[in-house]
Amino acid sequence: MTTHHSTPSSTNGKVYLVGAGPGDPGLITLRGKYLLEHAEVVVYDYLANPKLLSYVPKTAQLIYAGKKGGGLHAFTQQGINRLLVDHAQQGKMVVRLKGGDPFIFGRGAEEIEELVSEGIDFEVVPGVTSATAAATYAGIPITHREYTASVAFVTGHEDPTKKFSNISWEKLATGAGTIVIYMGIKTLPSITQKLIDHGRSPDTPVAVVRWASTPQQRSVVGTLATICDVVAQADIKPPALVIVGEVVKLRSTIDWFEKRPLFGRRIVVTRTREQASDLVAKLEEYGAECLEYSTIHIEPVADYRVLDQALAEIHAYAWLLFTSLNAVTYFFQRLFVLGHDSRHLAGTKIAVVGKATAEELKKYGLKADLIPDKFTGEGLAKALVETEVNGSRILLPRALKASDLLPETLIDAGAEVTIAPVYQNVPPQGRKEELRDQLESGSIDLITFTSSSTVTNFLAMLDAGSDEELHRLMDAVRIAAIGPITAETVREHGLRVDIQPERYTIDDMVHAIVAAYRNKPGQPQD
Ligand code: SAH
Repeated sequence: MTTHHSTPSSTNGKVYLVGAGPGDPGLITLRGKYLLEHAEVVVYDYLANPKLLSYVPKTAQLIYAGKKGGGLHAFTQQGINRLLVDHAQQGKMVVRLKGGDPFIFGRGAEEIEELVSEGIDFEVVPGVTSATAAATYAGIPITHREYTASVAFVTGHEDPTKKFSNISWEKLATGAGTIVIYMGIKTLPSITQKLIDHGRSPDTPVAVVRWASTPQQRSVVGTLATICDVVAQADIKPPALVIVGEVVKLRSTIDWFEKRPLFGRRIVVTRTREQASDLVAKLEEYGAECLEYSTIHIEPVADYRVLDQALAEIHAYAWLLFTSLNAVTYFFQRLFVLGHDSRHLAGTKIAVVGKATAEELKKYGLKADLIPDKFTGEGLAKALVETEVNGSRILLPRALKASDLLPETLIDAGAEVTIAPVYQNVPPQGRKEELRDQLESGSIDLITFTSSSTVTNFLAMLDAGSDEELHRLMDAVRIAAIGPITAETVREHGLRVDIQPERYTIDDMVHAIVAAYRNKPGQPQD
């Protein structure tokens, strides 16, 4: 790590100005990612993709610094500077995450000047600036041997009609082959006029790219003479970049990002454990924007007294039962919190509901003594009863709410069962309204289902009051089902399956979706 300041106070933390890149979270540097993974405080901007915050440790403090062009500023620049200084002075490792590159129209230097004057150590990590990203993702090489040998990066934030401009438009107009203008949407009419007035041909091609490198990217093309109308027509708003120059012509050949088969498509993926992220990654490869909905969310319980008590007298228990992976995970989490390890369970036999649970148990160095032939609660109950449980104490760590069939069968057979809640299923908060809004506004293209339970969970979350309401919400949306059983469940709810692969795998489902949109290219929604 480089130390930039000569006299850092030993109790001070350090501030890292990190370029987040233009929008696609894959465009941050490895150094930037590493620093996020070690941050104690992160102060981030409107233009930094919030997905990057998933790298930040859960214990870190996240502070949104706002800053929307022309809109509300959550903090003033002075306030942000203060924030960085204060946290560093508390000895914290602070990441200041800024859109694009910190030193390109990012006011990075102003923040550093403040740090220097306070004697605070700092480092700067460059980022992919939005100009190069917008050009690349719109299929425009900003330089090209045949068209231009020079590029100028200009801010359009400064109104060119003001009396004393810092930008010499008269020199720029013909002096730079390619001109890339940041923050230039509001002032576009006067900028284009200035360039024409100072000798640039009105026929010069111009591209405007909004939300470059993200699934929401939109780009339009015109000339210096027409681009203002084009932008107004297409209702392009900030953040957007303006690229002026002959190189814009190459877009018709090079455009690749917006040409991917699922670009502009919004696809809902209903989450079931790891499966969903695999599906999301594959759909995103084809350009889709995925909205992930997990219909259940697992949390620890508020009260572990029953389990703690049972663990204190574990030697008195003949059996310990696990009926789910989550039960194993949360049981051991608590065991370890109490300062024990797996040896604490040495005298107690362990039964599990099935193979997957047995595999999970192995991670803790334990082998199940009993796995039933039939991997259900009923199968487990039957197998245990056969071992003669009359008079035995049995510990059952499980979900807060669960079926009582297993414990009741065991009690009927004379066992004494302790039910210890170790985790709970909670419905994810706040997403239902969001989902309904998206469906109502028609902004969702497709919903994917990878099992019958994803169908039932999804519809339970949607919570349509009536069949008419369900149809109103779902009629414009296409549905993809992974296989015949899932498709059947969709139909049982009165809905239509539009896409179904021949083989029941995630890969085949993705290919079927891609094929469906290749054959039927509609106007992608934005
Ligand atoms: N430091 C940033 C620029 C900040 S100024 C960088 O290096 O990219 C803010 C301006 O950057 C916006 O008004 C817009 O013109 C441009 N910008 C940032 N991200 C953008 C994106 N994803 N797509 C288009 N323009 C973007």
